[in-house]
Amino acid sequence: MTSAVRNEGGFDIVTETDTAIRAKAVILATGISRVKLGVPGEKEFFGKGVSYCAACDGNFYKGKVVAIIGGETEAAASAELMTAYASKVYWVAKDVVASENMVRRSVAAGAELLRASAKAIKGEDKVTALELDDGTVLDLDGVFIELGARSSADLAMDMDVMPEMDDTIKVDASCFTGTEGVYACGDVTGKPWQMAKAVGQGAVAGTAAAEWVRGNVGQ
Ligand SMILES: Cc1cc2nc3c(=O)[nH]c(=O)nc-3n(C[C@H](O)[C@H](O)[C@H](O)COP(=O)(O)OP(=O)(O)OC[C@H]3O[C@@H](n4cnc5c(N)ncnc54)[C@H](O)[C@@H]3O)c2cc1C
Repeated sequence: MTSAVRNEGGFDIVTETDTAIRAKAVILATGISRVKLGVPGEKEFFGKGVSYCAACDGNFYKGKVVAIIGGETEAAASAELMTAYASKVYWVAKDVVASENMVRRSVAAGAELLRASAKAIKGEDKVTALELDDGTVLDLDGVFIELGARSSADLAMDMDVMPEMDDTIKVDASCFTGTEGVYACGDVTGKPWQMAKAVGQGAVAGTAAAEWVRGNVGQ
């Protein structure tokens, strides 16, 4: 979908292939895209030691050496989480904006905080090292890039749905956004960014939108 404009009976939608659709209700299920680090090796080693989700992939790094990259709360929480799996956790963050409490917890759990920026991810078939901007080279098995995410907030605004400050879309228990005829589900509604939540909310949003189209619910 490239645009969705409200009309009298619902929405006029245009897709990427320029197909026009008229709809009485819209469910936003556009997900999120993780913020990229933008260093050499990131793309090449994605799935071969580079991950964007410690909660999803942490279990694959039991007894291994990993680095978490990012200075925000999400990175701090991931660093703490990974101390339960990995033999060594480096937390690489030039600017730490996570709360003092989160930093304390991660460091107390055993994460080593390095005030540096990642410069390059290295390896052959899979990740073997992370080079930092101060020249340090960390020998390791995995790099978790935890820099947050972006969503399709602009599309939501076209439909009079105002995203939250973090670009997520707030919904109630029936996945209703508060704007007539517009529902949202999955990652775009916020954390946890997990399949189980996305699937569950998808069922709820689909049912609620269908009820709205049939005229069985008021808004
Ligand atoms: C690398 C990785 C590993 C993961 N591992 C796990 C795991 O082990 N367990 C787990 O539970 N979760 C995991 N997740 C998270 C899980 O994939 C997501 O929580 C889930 O897929 C969210 O579903 P969604 O439908 O909200 O969004 P998505 O699955 O992201 O789907 C959104 C879709 O909308 C499309 N889209 C976006 N904008 C538009 C538009 N304007 N018009 C039309 N289409 C659009 C996108 O192309 C995409 O196909 C992982 C995520 C990543 C990135």
